[in-house]
Amino acid sequence: MEYRLIDGTDLRVSILGYGAAPLGDVYGRVDLATGIRSVRAALELGVTVFDVAPYYGRTRAETVLGRALAGVDRDAYTLATKVGRYGPDEFDFSAARVRRSVDESLARLGAGHLDLVQVHDIEFGDLSRIVAETLPALAALRDAGKIRHLGVTGYPLAALAAVARRADLDTVLSYCRYTLLDRSLADWAPAFAARGVGVLNASPLAMGALTGRGAPPWHPAPAEVLRRCAAAAELCARRGAALEHLAVRFSAGCPGVATTFVGMPDERQARRNVRWALGPLDEDLLADVDRLLAPVRGRTWPSGRPEN
Ligand code: NAD
Repeated sequence: MEYRLIDGTDLRVSILGYGAAPLGDVYGRVDLATGIRSVRAALELGVTVFDVAPYYGRTRAETVLGRALAGVDRDAYTLATKVGRYGPDEFDFSAARVRRSVDESLARLGAGHLDLVQVHDIEFGDLSRIVAETLPALAALRDAGKIRHLGVTGYPLAALAAVARRADLDTVLSYCRYTLLDRSLADWAPAFAARGVGVLNASPLAMGALTGRGAPPWHPAPAEVLRRCAAAAELCARRGAALEHLAVRFSAGCPGVATTFVGMPDERQARRNVRWALGPLDEDLLADVDRLLAPVRGRTWPSGRPEN
């Protein structure tokens, strides 16, 4: 495994991170034992950073991750969770909810402190309130020693940048923005770095769209994008390759980021993803997949309030 420092923090993490959203059954049912084995396999392979949220499976992902990490040396891993989002349409960015949320996450995760707490999907909130109330509430918890670092997450890069300009952030987490479908994060990363803000890259498989199995029914991408992804999966299969492999390897090479979080709810996926992320990139296959995806490259979908 390779390790990198997250800018703006003293956190040194594996370049492939464990994304725990699937432990909340977001992509289909994951039984407890399977989920626990995937976490343990990731740790064994040198993965040291875990990202979760109360929203994933309405607390299930945190509970499963907490069970999986029980008994593991707390200094051996970096634990990131979130505040502010609790259901598809349930948001609460108030200071009071932040304080309660962190205490609940600590209990579910069985942790004495959290290394990073991020305001979840800021584009669904009032950015001025997030700057004036939500982040200061996290800063107070940092001063109290419950959390070590604070950040924000979201889909529109402009919203992440707007908050990074106005608040004293440690990290931003961006998802689906450095994949075979969209490379925008590479353009924005230097501006975050210039402010000393660490950049975390997530969803290399574009939330399942860039897999042989295909996107889950709730996937927000336009139908044409998903059709092209399915065609890319077929092209790879005809070559005896896996689209997942190309997608994980490509996204893990995003310049200017500390780590790339991938959801890998079973041991086989964890083992493959670590091997793929650290192995060579098939440039010929990439060129062919690039040609196929070119008509939909950079096609985004709406997320959050229109003004964000
Ligand atoms: P992803 O792009 O990592 O894709 C996950 C899907 O791909 C799952 O269905 C998984 O089973 C499948 N998969 C993974 N490896 C595979 C393999 N080797 N072969 C076949 N299928 C494979 O999407 P994600 O999990 O949503 O994103 C990664 C993590 O990033 C999340 O778990 C979460 O921690 C974080 N994230 C955060 C936000 C946010 O804060 N707003 C948004 C998205 C993701």
